[in-house]
Amino acid sequence: MDIPTSSVNSFPEESTDSNTLSVVVPCYNESENLQSLHARLLTVLTALPFHIELIYVDDGSKDDTADQVRMLNSSGIVLRLIALSRNFGKEIAMTAGLEHTTGDAAIVIDADLQDPPEVIPLLIAEWQAGFDVVYAQRTIRHGETWLKTLTARAFYRVIRAISGSVDIPKNTGDFRLLSRRAVDALLLLRERHRFMKGLFSWIGFPQKAVNYERDPRYAGTSKWNYWALWNFSLEGITSFSTAPLRLATYVGACSAVLAFGYGVYIAFKAMLFGDPVQGYPSLMVVITFLGGVQLVTMGIIGEYLGRTFNEAKQRPLYFVQENSVISQSADDD
Ligand code: UDP
Ligand code: MG
Repeated sequence: MDIPTSSVNSFPEESTDSNTLSVVVPCYNESENLQSLHARLLTVLTALPFHIELIYVDDGSKDDTADQVRMLNSSGIVLRLIALSRNFGKEIAMTAGLEHTTGDAAIVIDADLQDPPEVIPLLIAEWQAGFDVVYAQRTIRHGETWLKTLTARAFYRVIRAISGSVDIPKNTGDFRLLSRRAVDALLLLRERHRFMKGLFSWIGFPQKAVNYERDPRYAGTSKWNYWALWNFSLEGITSFSTAPLRLATYVGACSAVLAFGYGVYIAFKAMLFGDPVQGYPSLMVVITFLGGVQLVTMGIIGEYLGRTFNEAKQRPLYFVQENSVISQSADDD
C-alpha cells in the first residue's frame, strides 16, 4: 500500500506538540498479532508530533493477550492496559477504551493489522483540517471471499435505505479518528445495543472519509462467522430504524384488505351460486399464510421488545478488571 511517508513529518511542530493523541486497540485473543501490531504502531506514532497514549483493551481474551501487552515496549509513549472482566464484544471494548482516553483526538484501530497503522497520519491530517470524525473507507478488501463482499454490500444498501436521516457510510469499519468533542458526544450514548457504525454517524459533526486498502488478517481467525454477521445486521437495523415495525403494519393492512375483498367475493358467490361445502385447499392456504404473517410480525415486535427489555435494565456497559500503565522500554529486557 502506498501511503506517502512524507505526510508523517509534515505537521507544524510548534502548534501541535502539546497535544495528546489517544489510540484504542480492542483485543480479543490477539496474542499472535500484538508484537507486529505494536512495532508498526510505534513506528508510525513516535514519528508524530504528539504525546501518545496507547490503550490496549483486553476484552476477556482466553489466550495470553494481557500478558503480551504487559511485555510491550512503552518507551516514548504512555501505554495502558484495560482488561475487562469478561468478553463483552468489540463494540463495548471500544467504548471502554474510548472512555479511558484523555487525548485531544482518539483513534480506534483493530489489533489484527487489517487496519494499516500507516493510514493514521492521513486521518490526523483531516482532523487538523477541521473534521471531527475521520473514517477510513476501504477501497479493496484483501483476503475476503466474494460472498462476504456481496453480503457486506447488501447490508450497507439496506441499512442506508431504512436508517433515514442518519447517513451510515459504506465500506467503513470502526477504524477512525474522533476529535475530543466527538468522543465525548459518543460516550453520552449509553445504549447497551451498540451499533457503532451507526452511533459514529448519529453524533453528527463534520465527517470525512480517507480511502485505504483493507489488508487480510495478519494471524488468527476472524471472530465473525455468517451467523454472527447476520445477527450484527439485525442489530444494526433494529437499533437504527423502526422500519420493520412499519413494514409489519403494511403487510397486516394489505392482508386485511385482500381478505376483505375475498370475503365479499365469497359472499356474493354463495348468494348467486349456493354454497356446496368446498374449498378446503384454499382455506388451508389462507390459514397457514396468515398464521405465518402473524408469527413473523410478532417476531419483529418481540425483537424490539427484547431490546427495550435490555435497555430498561440499565446495567453498566462493562466492568474493568485491571487498569494499569505499562512501563517497559525496549532495553529493559
Ligand atoms: N474484538 C474484540 N472483542 C470481541 C471480538 C473482537 O475486542 O469479542 C476485536 C479483535 O481483537 C480485533 C477487532 O475487534 O481487534 C476486530 O475483530 P475481527 O478481526 O475478529 O473482526 P473482522 O475484522 O473480521 O470484522
Ligand atoms: Mg479483522
